[in-house]
Amino acid sequence: MKVLVLGAGQLARMMSLSATHLDIQVSAYDVATQQVINPVTFEAHAATLEQAIANVDAITAEFEHIPADVLAVCQQTGKFYPGAEAILTGGDRGKEKALLEKAQVACAPYALITEKSHFLDAIDKLGKPLVVKTCQAGYDGKGQWRVKHDDEVDAIWQEMSEFLAAGTDTTPHAIIAEQMIPFDREVSIIGVRDRTGHCRIYPLTENQHTNGVLTLSVAGKEKSTIQAQAEAAFSAIAGELDYVGVLAIEFFDVDGTLLVNEIAPRVHNSGHWTQQGCHVSQFENHMRAVVGLPIGDTSLVRPTAMINVLGQASIPTEVLSVSGVTSHWYGKTAKPGRKMGHINVSASNLHELGERLAELAEILPEDAYPGIAHTSHALI
Ligand code: ATP
Ligand code: MG
Ligand code: MG
Repeated sequence: MKVLVLGAGQLARMMSLSATHLDIQVSAYDVATQQVINPVTFEAHAATLEQAIANVDAITAEFEHIPADVLAVCQQTGKFYPGAEAILTGGDRGKEKALLEKAQVACAPYALITEKSHFLDAIDKLGKPLVVKTCQAGYDGKGQWRVKHDDEVDAIWQEMSEFLAAGTDTTPHAIIAEQMIPFDREVSIIGVRDRTGHCRIYPLTENQHTNGVLTLSVAGKEKSTIQAQAEAAFSAIAGELDYVGVLAIEFFDVDGTLLVNEIAPRVHNSGHWTQQGCHVSQFENHMRAVVGLPIGDTSLVRPTAMINVLGQASIPTEVLSVSGVTSHWYGKTAKPGRKMGHINVSASNLHELGERLAELAEILPEDAYPGIAHTSHALI
């Protein structure tokens, strides 16, 4: 079978690698260069997008910000999963909040902003501090402002109004203000839904972000009550979208109650640990779901942590001598802060995982790989 992925980054690459042993061939459409490529070797195919679409059994996406005309062409084929509506919802925070309301899943109090009076009302109604986000195009914490003091309001509005003014009739821009949630920690759930509506959900993973970017994710230490809340949210949201494939939901944990931060209609960085922590990874399960194969076991096989490698030019090979470590490299050109690869570390129990993280913390510099020593202490 053949699958076309819209987007040609590391997520398409890992989907392709996971699909090889199912005899599924994956090609990827690079939205920037408008080329169809092999996402593992990066070789260009001779095919145009239209030819690639005609030639595959299923189409899917590795990111949300896909040109509307490409989405429309794919949607018309009837073989695009999870489909244009899910991708558009994940790419627009206004649509996302409307979905959460429909699915009756709790999130931070918010207000949509298209003019200054809305912004001032939001400050009044929601109080400070506020997190303000562009509805479209944000990722890795980009396109956000924090409003903490009155004297910042005018300068922040100036930047916000420039963003709003850059919208056009066909692509209007909007902004959302959210109450800043004093969360204890951030967690996410990754699950998969097949074409018949059957879901399988992975264990929750705890995420640490540094400057808005995921740096460390640890799976296998959650209580069943919090897992049950996350699973209920997953089923409600995936059901509302009649979703097919892997869907990720990020939450704030506030004293044992989960509030949704955002959703991602695709495989997700906080699910990379499933490559070693589970029998069937998020990448393989997504491929299975979109081509209509049975979805596989999502239960935890071993506690696993994932460390992102950001901006480094090569794999930190010293870590490979630590037991339980595997390395995943994306083959991209290095740029400061860019996601270049990740390291998974697994163990037979949480104590051992803590010990292995402590070994890694000795090797990996804290400034480039934050949070590892702290997390290891908490587990040992
Ligand atoms: P990505 O898609 O890469 O996960 P993003 O750019 O879509 O990131 P968000 O996930 O919305 O951004 O926000 C990034 C981080 O900012 C969150 O993980 C969280 O740490 C913090 N944050 C966002 N919204 C809030 C909020 N309402 N209250 C407190 N912290 C927040
Ligand atoms: Mg996001
Ligand atoms: Mg996020």
